[in-house]
Amino acid sequence: MNLKDEIKKLIKLQEIDKQVYKLNLQKSNNIPAKIDELKESIDQKQKEFAAFKDKVNRLELEKKNKEGELTQKEENLKKAKSQLYQLKSNKEYQVKLNEISSIEADISCAEEEVIKFLDNIEQEKAEVKKEKEKVESETNKMKQEIADLEKETKEIDQKINELENKRKSFTSDVDKKILNQYQDLLKKRNGLAIVPVVNNNCGACHISLTRQKVNEIKMYDKLILCESCVRILYIPEDLEL
Ligand SMILES: [Zn+2]
Repeated sequence: MNLKDEIKKLIKLQEIDKQVYKLNLQKSNNIPAKIDELKESIDQKQKEFAAFKDKVNRLELEKKNKEGELTQKEENLKKAKSQLYQLKSNKEYQVKLNEISSIEADISCAEEEVIKFLDNIEQEKAEVKKEKEKVESETNKMKQEIADLEKETKEIDQKINELENKRKSFTSDVDKKILNQYQDLLKKRNGLAIVPVVNNNCGACHISLTRQKVNEIKMYDKLILCESCVRILYIPEDLEL
């Protein structure tokens, strides 16, 4: 096994893995949270609208009660009027007349109240219609955003899939032990396992490497790691890249 050749393969592999890491990050960091947020907003909007709509239902119920009271009063009036002719004394007659006019005043009040309810309900219904259109338009917009994000996820998955397939053709060729070490580092070091030495500095954490460290790398008889960020180091000039 020629270590330089294996390192060259790792460099190519790292190029792919960098992209896979970035895509996975993009997918897991932003999209699910955004989708959850949008779904929650839609729920909230629906709840607010339901409460708004409920106001009309409450008014309808109150109106119905008022109408029931009105019917009762009208029956009372009918009864009182029918009783008029059975009364014997003038005094009794006068009392009944007073009762009748009191019921009539009551009825007129109740009728006004029913009309007020009708007006109010009509107004609220118009508001509900307006609100419904607004909620629907906002909800549709958010649903579209969710669909776009889901499409984006799918596209990312597809790209990852393609890269994983490409990756397979590279990994089959790498020495097993070296590949295992590389993949282990890849997981632990945020998707970056192998980095070039640039001006005697680590290409990832930029720590200055000792002369001895550089000489160790140049021997290419085993993989040398950065002491600071623990990543495989190589010197591009040595590899005829
Ligand atoms: Zn480093």
